[in-house]
Amino acid sequence: MRRQIAAGNWKMNTDLKFGQEFIENIEKQAFPEDVEVIIGVPYLSISQLAHISSKVKIAAQNCHQEDKGAYTGEIAANMLNSVGCDYVILGHSERRQYFNESDELILSKIYKVLENDMQVIYCCGEPLEVREADKHEAYVGQQLSESICKLDPSHMKNLVVAYEPIWAIGTGRTASPEQAQSMHAHIRNVLKTTFGEDIANATSILYGGSVKPANAKEIFSQADVDGGLVGGASLKGDSFYDIIQSF
Ligand code: PEP
Repeated sequence: MRRQIAAGNWKMNTDLKFGQEFIENIEKQAFPEDVEVIIGVPYLSISQLAHISSKVKIAAQNCHQEDKGAYTGEIAANMLNSVGCDYVILGHSERRQYFNESDELILSKIYKVLENDMQVIYCCGEPLEVREADKHEAYVGQQLSESICKLDPSHMKNLVVAYEPIWAIGTGRTASPEQAQSMHAHIRNVLKTTFGEDIANATSILYGGSVKPANAKEIFSQADVDGGLVGGASLKGDSFYDIIQSF
């Protein structure tokens, strides 16, 4: 009953030509109809890439929290919607770390994305020292309670959670399937307490952190893992395609 999702995040790595070729190739391949495929692409490519494929949905990797104004260099959610963007990734640890994004700011961006008829991929996850101190559940619980737990229950159908332990992002170090499952179950419990069982059970929770073809199947087979948010391995057509086939 939950959507299964393979989402890529290209970060600041790809130009338009790369994106066009990549998505044209994926479009030609057969993949399971019940797996939703999303790619987070650089802003500049969205307007072109959003119209290439009916099978691949396009995500932005950020947006601004205001509708318009004197914010040089920024992009508003309504602009993303106007060029065919489907999703916006918010709360990624790189945005939290390098751009000082707080849960409060992330929540204000979430509202804007939802108001503008797009969906949110909301990222959360703990740094290594928190995991080593065995405080990861409390840490992620706090991230959730200061952001998505404040939403109206009706918003949740347009939101996907991505659990991304920071120590596993781009490091080659993956959470074990058991570690992923245990945190996903915790997140689902927080959603249950906040929004009730039906919404919690209908919300897709993705795992992110060095997902690759060699580990995707085992991670995705965990009861509360509904797919992945994939960085490095989404930049290679073969790897991403194998990950899409791993459900
Ligand atoms: C990410 O940046 O969201 C990510 C999970 O990256 P990687 O797969 O490279 O660890």
